[in-house]
Amino acid sequence: MSKPLAASAGNVAGAPTGPSPAVMGTYARQDIVFARGDGAWLETEAGVRYLDFGAGIAVNTLGHAHPRLIAALTEQAGKLWHTSNLYRVAGQEKLAERLVAATFADRVFFCNSGAEACEGAIKAARRHHFANGHPERWRIVTCTGAFHGRTLTTLAAAGNPKYLEGFGPEAPGFDHVPFGDLEAARAAVGPETAAIMLEPVQGEGGVHVGAAEYLQGLRALCDEAGILLVLDEVQTGIGRSGKLFSHERAGVTPDIMAVAKGLGGGFPVGAVLTTEACAMTAGTHGSTFGGNPLAMAVGDAVLDIVLEPGFLENVEQKSQQMRQGLARLQELYPNLVEEVRGQGLLLGIKLKVEPPHVVKAALAERLLVVGAGDNVVRLLPPLNVAEHEISEGLERLERALAAVDQSQT
Ligand SMILES: *Cc1c(COP(=O)(O)O)cnc(C)c1O
Repeated sequence: MSKPLAASAGNVAGAPTGPSPAVMGTYARQDIVFARGDGAWLETEAGVRYLDFGAGIAVNTLGHAHPRLIAALTEQAGKLWHTSNLYRVAGQEKLAERLVAATFADRVFFCNSGAEACEGAIKAARRHHFANGHPERWRIVTCTGAFHGRTLTTLAAAGNPKYLEGFGPEAPGFDHVPFGDLEAARAAVGPETAAIMLEPVQGEGGVHVGAAEYLQGLRALCDEAGILLVLDEVQTGIGRSGKLFSHERAGVTPDIMAVAKGLGGGFPVGAVLTTEACAMTAGTHGSTFGGNPLAMAVGDAVLDIVLEPGFLENVEQKSQQMRQGLARLQELYPNLVEEVRGQGLLLGIKLKVEPPHVVKAALAERLLVVGAGDNVVRLLPPLNVAEHEISEGLERLERALAAVDQSQT
């Protein structure tokens, strides 16, 4: 028996008519469908163009349809898609070696998403102590306001009650302390602690930047206690912070790091990076799709560009341009904008109104921005956004704020 088609099901390419109920309603989506993109721009089927300062939530590192990423993906697609991890994968070895060369890490495990990278990082931290004769060290100190993904364990790690509700008993083993509070972290470390895990900048939580002294203090604390520092750089990594990884800004290195979002420039990929002390031996972890040749080819091409001389300096310059523009908007609309904060091209404006008002008003100006916790709207343009596109984005945001300001009075 055939079911009647939902009203919108045959109309995906046409004017938006509301989301199809066939897609599980786990997101409160904007009623808009994009058909194509180029650089920092997205376009509907009807040709209406939007400036993308969301970059798929810090994923489209190099914007949309970058010719070098298309070339890397299509070249690999013509050769080999998948073999499984039962065999050596050339692209994995190449990308892992490049990540090792560019970071603190000695080993890389590839997976497919940020949550998986965080799960892998948690497993690696626990296994390290197990292998060193301390199986009792399995608890992890994490921060309130954190976001580590939507698997049951990463939800427990972050401890956001809103996301945990209705999913059964919370996975045990996480001790939550306030982000930024070194003494609270120190007090939470005990004989069962394996690691401290946090984002150097809390992205989803509202663009809270961990101070350099805080991260340095945590590093020293971990060394004293003989535990591991695990950084979740899923959002901050791959140039988003203005450095390849945000921890470089604080002059500290983690023992384990989760990476995903920007690494594939829009192709799903995640990675767990560890030092050689890591005890993840054959059989301890795995993934069917992780390190798939397609993902590896694209990740390699992303690194080619992000590691080009001058690229990250350029991100820092764009960041300055954005910050100056945003500071001006704060002066113009002190009743709407409370603070501008962030790192590199992971910037947030803390609002005195509900973020959805500004997200909607920006959408009406054909500018895409992303909400976050703590009343923040995030600005996450592609890292290769042009100067004139930033100016354009700031103008659109100014008009959006003006509209919100109008509607308030
Ligand atoms: C997005 C994000 C995740 C989860 O990534 P998914 O790919 O959605 O699983 C984890 N940690 C941080 C810091 C993130 O921003």
